[in-house]
Amino acid sequence: MHKIREIISEDSMRKKMEKTEIFADLHLHSTASDGILSPTDLVGACKKCGLKAICLTDHDTIKGVEEASAAAKNSEIEFAAGIELSCGIPNQDYSLHVLGLFIDPTNSQLIELLRKHENARRERAFKILSLLKGLNVNVEPLRLEFEKLTDQLLARPHIARFLLSVGAVSDFQEAFEKFLKKGAPAYVPKLALSPEKGIEAIHNAGGLAFIAHPGLDLNWEATFSKVENLPWDGIEVFYGDHDPSQTEKFRKLAERKGWLMSGGSDYHGECGKHVARLGQTGLSREKFNLLAEASKTCRKK
Ligand SMILES: [Zn+2]
Ligand SMILES: [Zn+2]
Repeated sequence: MHKIREIISEDSMRKKMEKTEIFADLHLHSTASDGILSPTDLVGACKKCGLKAICLTDHDTIKGVEEASAAAKNSEIEFAAGIELSCGIPNQDYSLHVLGLFIDPTNSQLIELLRKHENARRERAFKILSLLKGLNVNVEPLRLEFEKLTDQLLARPHIARFLLSVGAVSDFQEAFEKFLKKGAPAYVPKLALSPEKGIEAIHNAGGLAFIAHPGLDLNWEATFSKVENLPWDGIEVFYGDHDPSQTEKFRKLAERKGWLMSGGSDYHGECGKHVARLGQTGLSREKFNLLAEASKTCRKK
């Protein structure tokens, strides 16, 4: 009996440690995509909450990498370049987010692919604004802002924040429900990259490819059946919006498939989605090292 209690308490202790000791956050957004903080400020915020290693994973861009890398060096935080690619799944209203971790940001094929998608995304943002204008929302200030932002990725969260700031909606999510999501009056579809192509681009750039936040996918089983045999390196098991049962489910899945486990906060800043969880979700030192090691062998291939 005593022995069992000892084991239980060790086990709960281990779980507690895993929960509290976050060494690395491998899912972060800066102003290079739809985050609030500049790459430098983001690194500062990571340092402040005690993170020792980070990976910047902006949506479909690596433009923040250079600045974040320099800031991380100054802050003595270990840094890896990353990306979160939005990939489309045929016949499904869900874009599968694919995380590329430990990528080489100078890889020319990756840069070319991103440039193509950036142009498409820009066109899409302006189309959404015209639709909103047609719905009698005064989007002119945002349109002018977008014209000036030639070097930034324009995405729906920008538009959602604008709608909130002018009182067109009462909260961030309502902007999607009322205007921006599929089926809503200002919805414009995206140019979709297939998960296969996304993984290939990440592997070409020497990185590891992970399925991001599987727990957010309401049709996960359907998605999984379509993508499970692709050459994934792993899956994002540790994620702020995963409840303990989901974490356990994806942990078991990773074990069964022989996949690596990644983790991060998906921090975008203190506004909008996934707020206030920097430093609370991610990987222990041990789990981070497993990934860092795997990335080295991947690059040698
Ligand atoms: Zn995502
Ligand atoms: Zn993300």
